[in-house]
Parts: sequence; structure tokens; C-alpha cells
Amino acid sequence: MQETFDIAIVGAGIVGLAVGRELLHRNPDCRLLILEKEGQVAAHQTGHNSGVIHSGIYYKPGSLKARLCVHGAAAMLEFVRAHGIPYEQCGKVVVATQPEEIPRLQELYERGTANGVPGLRWLADAGAVREIEPHAAGLCGLHVPTTAITDFKMVAEQLARLITAAGGMVRLNAAVASITHTAEELILKTLSGEFRTKYLVNCAGLHSDRVARMTGADLNVRIVPFRGEYYEIAPEKHHLVRGLIYPVPDPRFPFLGVHFTRRIHGGIEAGPNAVLALKREGYTRTSFSLQDSFASLSYGGFWKMAARYWANGMGELYRSWSKSAFTAALRKLLPELSQEDIHPAGAGVRAQALDKNGKLVDDFLFVHGSRAIHVCNVPSPAATASLKIAEVVVDAISDMMVTNKRGSHVADRSPI
Ligand SMILES: Cc1cc2nc3c(=O)[nH]c(=O)nc-3n(C[C@H](O)[C@H](O)[C@H](O)COP(=O)(O)OP(=O)(O)OC[C@H]3O[C@@H](n4cnc5c(N)ncnc54)[C@H](O)[C@@H]3O)c2cc1C
Repeated sequence: MQETFDIAIVGAGIVGLAVGRELLHRNPDCRLLILEKEGQVAAHQTGHNSGVIHSGIYYKPGSLKARLCVHGAAAMLEFVRAHGIPYEQCGKVVVATQPEEIPRLQELYERGTANGVPGLRWLADAGAVREIEPHAAGLCGLHVPTTAITDFKMVAEQLARLITAAGGMVRLNAAVASITHTAEELILKTLSGEFRTKYLVNCAGLHSDRVARMTGADLNVRIVPFRGEYYEIAPEKHHLVRGLIYPVPDPRFPFLGVHFTRRIHGGIEAGPNAVLALKREGYTRTSFSLQDSFASLSYGGFWKMAARYWANGMGELYRSWSKSAFTAALRKLLPELSQEDIHPAGAGVRAQALDKNGKLVDDFLFVHGSRAIHVCNVPSPAATASLKIAEVVVDAISDMMVTNKRGSHVADRSPI
């Protein structure tokens, strides 16, 4: 007779692994299985990001992002310190380079303050900006001294080691292809066998909507992939950037705008932009998947979004293909930079949920299913917030278990 797990998690990115660790921490006897389709953990978003432990200035006070980012950053710093994972609290400046950006920067200052981000300092003029970042342009700026950098892939690998040591099972090369139900369990079919579980946590990132649909969940959103491309700065220009330099983001989008990031293992990167991608796990400009493109194009919400943001989308596409256009965006922050100083340096793809009305879902989104929690929108700052996202998800699955034990029927319902 095949073993039935208490909980199976689909996806061994930082969120799935953080959930696994939290489950075993609360209940060491839990029979836990994590299924990952790739041959390693952190193969997608978790292994292709900027490595920034965000402080929480961007997010609407009261939102899940605000709460889980601020507390998550503290928890992440504690985790990397405790496990010897390299990190550096290098701080960042956000600079307004146009007069119309100043009120938006002030709003970030207010949001950061309301969210409890410590040490924020308003940089009132160009001279004050240059005291922190001597080569940055800026009419004024905001200094966020607590922002840090780390390696989230190393965090994920450490989480996987802790899970295995605590008796959990992480199965690699196990893509979940279909899911069926009985009254008391879910049966997950993968290429490397069939697995039975009482409860499911879907942390499948760029495929989270598909995995949710495999369970029969009726989602109001679809995942749309946005590729973010990076350039690296030539070593002889590293002196131009001390820590992290960010622009004031466009409030219509959940992306931060191309910025300069010091990497924890050395080097400085510029990016990422945000280009609508034709493949969910496609890391080059020519990556294409018929299935993924069809999934986007056949969705009504996609066309509503396209109608609203086509001009911005075309601009991003142009900057993706034109190095001089990308450099021009960067020179707004760092005027001394020239096209010869930057070289292409890979990309990541963000899983961004889009609703039926063409709105990019701003906050984290968790959807209850039958015997399942679907983590449906955890874009940036979810790596920062992962340890606290895990607490929210484990609270939800625990409530579901208690309710089911009492014999209540749990129907598909709205977000947590
Ligand atoms: C370009 C970029 C820059 C970013 N910068 C930052 C940053 O600086 N700071 C920050 O906090 N956040 C950042 N983020 C966001 C952060 O990386 C993500 O929010 C986070 O990694 C999400 O983790 P995850 O576990 O949900 O997803 P993922 O890491 O994508 O993991 C999902 C996993 O599910 C697996 N999977 C999918 N389908 C199946 C299936 N059917 N069966 C089995 N396994 C499956 C995938 O292979 C994958 O390993 C950035 C993201 C990107 C793309």
C-alpha cells in the first residue's frame, strides 16, 4: 500500500521550501513531500533575481506585501546570519531625477514610515544624494539604510537541507502533470510516479495557475510572465556605485524600474526591465512557447491590460532590443555611464497574476481550494518575505485541517 503524505508542496522555490520548513517546525511528525520538476531547487524565480532583501517602503500600508516584507526582511536577516549565508546591509537610495517624481518619492517616504521601516532619511537636494552615492544624479532622494543583499538560491538550498534533516522529502525531477481527488486525498501524477497526500500547497511559481486548475480550482487570475533582463557593469566602473541606486517607480506597475544592484558575490548589475514574455520559463529574447503564448493571448484580461499599457509595453520591448535605449534609462540615474560600460548578464522571469479586468494583481494572493492552498501571486518582494509568507500559508492550511477534522465541508472560496 502506497504511503499517503500529510502535506505535499508543489515547487521547490524559496516559497515552497519556506512553507515546508515552517510546517515541520510546527509539527515535526508531519509526513511532508515536496515535488519539484527541475533537477535542483531554486531553478526559476528564486535563482534568477536581484538578491535584494527589501525593507518595505513601496507597499501600501496594511497590505500583505507591506506587513510580510517588513517582518520578512527581519526574519531573513536572522536566517542568513544564523546559517552563515553571505549578506551585506549596504543600504539603498531612491532618487527623483524629474520634478514630477518628487511627490511620488515623498509618498514612498510616508509609506515606509507607516510600514515601520527604520532609519529612513530624506535627502533634500543633489548634494545630499551625492553624500551617499557620489556619482548618482537626483534632485532629491530617499536613503533606506536597512536594505540588504544576499543569495536567495543559497537560502533555498539551506531550507532544503533543513527539511531533509527534519524528515521531509524533497523529490527533484518530479513534475506534477495531473491531480485527481478522492474525498480524503489528492493523487498527484508525476513522470517519476504517483503520490498521495491529504493536503496540497501549490507553490509552483510561474505555473501556479496551471497547478491550481489541475485541482479543479476556479481562479480569477492567470499568470503572465514578465522577463527582466540584466546588464553587468564593467569592473573599471564599479566605483560609480556604492550600494543600491533605484529610480522612483511608476505607480501603475508592480515593478521597480531598472536600477543598480551590488551583488553579494561581487559585481554590479543594472536592471531588470519588465518585458512581456512569450515563454514562462524563457530567459532569452527569442524564447517562445506556443502553449504559454496561447495561455496569455486567449485570456480576456490580457487584452484589457494590453489596451491600457501598450505604449509602456512597446517602450520596454524597445529597451530590451536596443542597448542604447537601455543605457539611456540607466544614465538618468548614473550620467557617467556609457554604452561600452555595460554587458548583457542574463535574465529572470516574474510570475505576475493578471485578473479578468486586465489589472496586474498588486498584493500577494493566496487562494483556498478543496484540501489545498494555492499561492497564486508572490512576486517581489516574496523572496525577502518568504519566511513570513510561510507562516501565513501554514496558518491557513492548519485552519483547513482543523475545520475538516470537525467534519465541515470546505468549499472553494476567496483569498485568505
Ligand atoms: C528578475 C527578478 C528579480 C527579483 N528580485 C527580487 C529581489 O531582489 N528581492 C525579492 O525579495 N524578490 C525578488 N524577486 C521575486 C522573487 O524572486 C520571487 O518572488 C520568489 O523567488 C518566488 O518564489 P517561488 O518559490 O514562489 O517561485 P519559484 O522560485 O519560481 O519556484 C517555483 C518552483 O515550482 C516549480 N514547479 C512549477 N511547476 C511545477 C510542477 N508542475 N511540478 C513540480 N514543480 C513545479 C518550478 O520548477 C520552480 O522551481 C525577483 C524576481 C525576478 C524574476
